[in-house]
Amino acid sequence: MVFKSKNTDLNFVDGVGFLQFPALTELDFINHAFSTRIGGVSECEYKSMNLNFTRGDDPECVMENYRLFCRAAGFDLNSLVSSHQDHNTNVRCVSKANCGIGITREHDIDSVDALITNEPGVTLVTHYADCTPLFFADPEKKVIALAHAGWKGTVAKIGENVVEQMQEKYGCDPSDIIAVVGPAIGSCCYEVDTPVYEEFASLTELKPAYFTKTLGHGKYLVDLKETNRRILMDAGLLSINITISDVCTKCNSGLLFSHRASNGKRGGLVAMMCIKE
Ligand SMILES: [Zn+2]
Repeated sequence: MVFKSKNTDLNFVDGVGFLQFPALTELDFINHAFSTRIGGVSECEYKSMNLNFTRGDDPECVMENYRLFCRAAGFDLNSLVSSHQDHNTNVRCVSKANCGIGITREHDIDSVDALITNEPGVTLVTHYADCTPLFFADPEKKVIALAHAGWKGTVAKIGENVVEQMQEKYGCDPSDIIAVVGPAIGSCCYEVDTPVYEEFASLTELKPAYFTKTLGHGKYLVDLKETNRRILMDAGLLSINITISDVCTKCNSGLLFSHRASNGKRGGLVAMMCIKE
């Protein structure tokens, strides 16, 4: 397995591999990581660092994977708060009272595709396997957020929704927000049919020619990452404050779980981020 990237680091601690983004690593007040398949205990299509409880893997293996991943990447297992994703755009603000939800205790609210906090010691956890992870950090107001943007969440502008919530609830100025559009299926691999293409083509305010390509015979390529970048720019983020990871999950399916590459027989990846205590 060869890993190549200009803007995403592959780090190893105790045999656990995880990705980090220099644009976030340089922010002292947070810790962040994006998981890989490397260093867990799960078998078969979940091999080996599966962090998803809902795809048929042995829950004890998944919990052990969380322990291993947290220890390696520097997160407290008891501080995790998970999303409960269903491709909508609902954003949940969480605090210490919510720690454990979706991991060490049952989830309590359905339909949560994005999480925000300003409390140190609360680790946000969101789930992926080709969909786009959006990382947000405001170093001025000390607020962080994670969002899951599949094609539906992207078109419905979950990224814009997060920025609006950061403004309204925490007083953030969009021009202060640092964002990373993380590893996801790239424009190299994300082929769609006409109905999905038309959803993207309808985002005329974002100039769809920059993120859609016609292949012919009712097939198109869509660039989820570029679409999200344009949505964040539209929401007031500065171009210099947005990094797009050049890592495609499908091109790197030995390293990362890819729904498309595996025809759905797969485990799950997570993004994690917390404000340090
Ligand atoms: Zn690709």
